[in-house]
Amino acid sequence: MSGQGHAAMTVRGQRGLLRQIREVMADGSSAQARLDGVVQIIANSMVAEVCSIYLRRTSEELELFATEGLNRAAVHNTRLRLSEGLVGEVARAGQPLSLTDAPSHPSFAYRPETGEDPYNSFLGVPLLRGGRTIGVLVVQNRAMRQYHEEEVEDLQIIAMVLAEMVAGDLIGGDELKDIELAPHRPERLKGAVFADGLTQGVVILHEVPVTPDHLLADDPQAEEKRMLKGIDDLRAQIDEMFEGQHGLAGPTFDVLETYRMFAHDRGWTRNLLEAVRSGLTAEAAVERVRNEQRARLNNARDTYMRERLHDLEDLGNRLLRVLAGKNTTARDIPENAILVARDLGPADLLEYDRKRLKGILLEEGSAASHAAIVARALQIPCVGRLSGLRDKVNQNDPVIVDGETGEAYLRPRADIIEATGARMDVRALRRAEFDKIKDAPAITRDGHRMTLMMNAGLEFDLDIMHEVGAEGIGLFRTEFQFMVSEDLPRLNRQTELYGRVMDMAGDKPVTFRTLDLGGDKILPYMEMDREENPALGWRAIRMGLDRPALLRMQVRALIIAARGRELRIMFPMVASVDEFRQARELVDIECQWAKRRGRALPSILRVGVMIECPSLLWHLDALLPMVDFASVGTNDLTQYLFAADRTNPRMSDRYDVLSPPMLRALSVIQKAAEDSGTPVSVCGEIAGRPLEAFVLLALGFNRLSMPPAGLGQVKRMVLSLDVETASKAIQRLMTSSYGSLRSEVLALARKLNVAL
Ligand code: PEP
Ligand code: MG
Repeated sequence: MSGQGHAAMTVRGQRGLLRQIREVMADGSSAQARLDGVVQIIANSMVAEVCSIYLRRTSEELELFATEGLNRAAVHNTRLRLSEGLVGEVARAGQPLSLTDAPSHPSFAYRPETGEDPYNSFLGVPLLRGGRTIGVLVVQNRAMRQYHEEEVEDLQIIAMVLAEMVAGDLIGGDELKDIELAPHRPERLKGAVFADGLTQGVVILHEVPVTPDHLLADDPQAEEKRMLKGIDDLRAQIDEMFEGQHGLAGPTFDVLETYRMFAHDRGWTRNLLEAVRSGLTAEAAVERVRNEQRARLNNARDTYMRERLHDLEDLGNRLLRVLAGKNTTARDIPENAILVARDLGPADLLEYDRKRLKGILLEEGSAASHAAIVARALQIPCVGRLSGLRDKVNQNDPVIVDGETGEAYLRPRADIIEATGARMDVRALRRAEFDKIKDAPAITRDGHRMTLMMNAGLEFDLDIMHEVGAEGIGLFRTEFQFMVSEDLPRLNRQTELYGRVMDMAGDKPVTFRTLDLGGDKILPYMEMDREENPALGWRAIRMGLDRPALLRMQVRALIIAARGRELRIMFPMVASVDEFRQARELVDIECQWAKRRGRALPSILRVGVMIECPSLLWHLDALLPMVDFASVGTNDLTQYLFAADRTNPRMSDRYDVLSPPMLRALSVIQKAAEDSGTPVSVCGEIAGRPLEAFVLLALGFNRLSMPPAGLGQVKRMVLSLDVETASKAIQRLMTSSYGSLRSEVLALARKLNVAL
């Protein structure tokens, strides 16, 4: 049976075929005539009695668009739902289907109008664009024959060229207008806020699609050489990354290993080379192999498998970049670019011009991921976990990134664009208003001086500190450097960063918090045991005390970086006074080390504690005399006080910080600090929200450190506040028997004319 009456197409033959298809598609006749021509050519060259093209309508049906061999009358009449019949099956799975005896297949759906009774063997391949099936290409034969593997491969290459041509400019006009070549309806996707902000612009796909006019190679031999060189260069690049000679942050060890494995995988290279030999350009060959992987990815249930396929796809992207001859040079992007990607590694964002990059949309990722941290530092609105995103957008589509609500609007309707524009204007107005007061001292109406500082973690943040008029960095999260790095930053890199941060801060104070890792902040390059309850586990100072070398290296880097200037160090997640005592001893040891080496000691050294664990509330009398300052981490304190995971979205609105237990806890800390003369600040997210900040000041705190986006609004609130009146009213509210005081606090703020 196998191969009866058929000679498998030679590579040379196919090259000619692709050219013929291109010529037919490019001639000036109607879209229908061109498709009719294409099916005829394919049927002839594949020695098939039938060749048909089905295209996907916006109604989600697959419509027979052109056929050679089936009844002509069925064209535009035969329609199949996705997953109906064999054609639907191919479309749904996004994979080829080859059958010797098609009618006996359980999915076979008989359509009398097509006249397909006599045909037994069936080979269908999806027309894929960017992982989306836009149609199906089918060949059929009377004989019960088995299609060769090479034939399946050949038809897939033809399908790819066809898909791009159908979708590209080569076919235009009205005839194909409601074909679902590419998503075009307005759509709203719900995801998660990774970086606050609101913006609109046009989609720039991080994984660049190959343009239809660059599909076929003019000189296939030269193209094969180019592909071979590309693969060699790619392998060399990966080996170099492996040896750690690659200065930029990049993929993790595991991913690199997978890259290396795939890059040397014979199957992968063979597929790429075959595609090139058949006449495709090297870029089109990568796209062709990648399309197939994407389709497989969309069907893979197993997470391990999905991840490996993701890595393979990333490898394809790298190869495209190598072929384009650029590695990390900035990509040319329009003024209002919105970057769309599955996820971004630390080095990826460096490829883009920061000034032009206005927003980021990610299909996956997490708020603690590299991309999200960098996006926040660069103040680029970013929404992540938008499921199915990449298959739903096209290059240059208009989009809105709503980093307030965690939504993305794809191809938004005019009214949404208008409403967003209005919201953006309001934000701009507020920013202009904040700009005017940014250098004014934060003094309340009744003359109390408040200190408003900013939380930071990366070098970019220091520029922002000056822009928003913060009076210093009240919390520098040192773990960010570790999280955006491909390997453990050693002494030199740490020293360099801390030194630059202090230089950039000038005479403004910076409080460096030692590593707060563990919990949801995991380093891919560090071996850590999986824990049942990571938030309650081996994290932050616990890790630092058990691995003193790591903590000491960090303290040493800070001392060297200070070069005789004032140095402020703070320890996170202290749950017992003994932990603070031990940590402080390590600082003393490092000071002695510096002294022995003749290094300059900090002119002033202040060592502080973060109050995040409720246990400390009942030991403040012992703790406060040992510390030089304290800072209340309300993010964690709330989490531990209410026993509610801060990373669990179901918990996020469940308990209110504006509640008697939380306010009483804060008040106890503030009073104890005041009584013992210990400077205290609040550095959780609530310090950046005007209503919550109003309460903090009313409780007696006069130092706040907050995310930069909160500074303007909190400053405005401070300038409008009579804090002594507010204090008295808050004391009364704290005796309430309500679980939340939010509406009471809001009413009070309104009554006192506080600007919120
Ligand atoms: C906190 O817990 O409030 C805090 C500021 O630290 P982080 O958010 O980094 O845990
Ligand atoms: Mg914390």
